[in-house]
Amino acid sequence: MARIHDTTKSTLALRKRKRFLLSQLQISPDSLRASLVERFSRCGKTNCRCRHGGQKHGPFYYLTQCLAVGQVNKFLLKSGAQQQSARAAIEHYRQLQEQLEELSQINAELLRREEDLQS
Ligand SMILES: [Zn+2]
Repeated sequence: MARIHDTTKSTLALRKRKRFLLSQLQISPDSLRASLVERFSRCGKTNCRCRHGGQKHGPFYYLTQCLAVGQVNKFLLKSGAQQQSARAAIEHYRQLQEQLEELSQINAELLRREEDLQS
């Protein structure tokens, strides 16, 4: 779901905002569209505490990426360094996505006003 951006400004203000967004737009090589999920789990040992009401093992961090309906890429991030990299890369992607979304909403509004997209 997209965040709704304010497109009620004057056409001049929208064009200014568009220029600003474009000047800020930066594609990080580490961009990643995914989520990080935290899981606790039980192990296979029958006499382990996790099988007898004790604490489960974890947290374990999984990277999940929805590729298509019912098709999810999911794997364990074993090290703290991997988890940190994933968090940063996910945030880069999110920021880029948000900037593109605002740009897109401004362009839609310019078209609605029957303005040229350029200039
Ligand atoms: Zn266990």
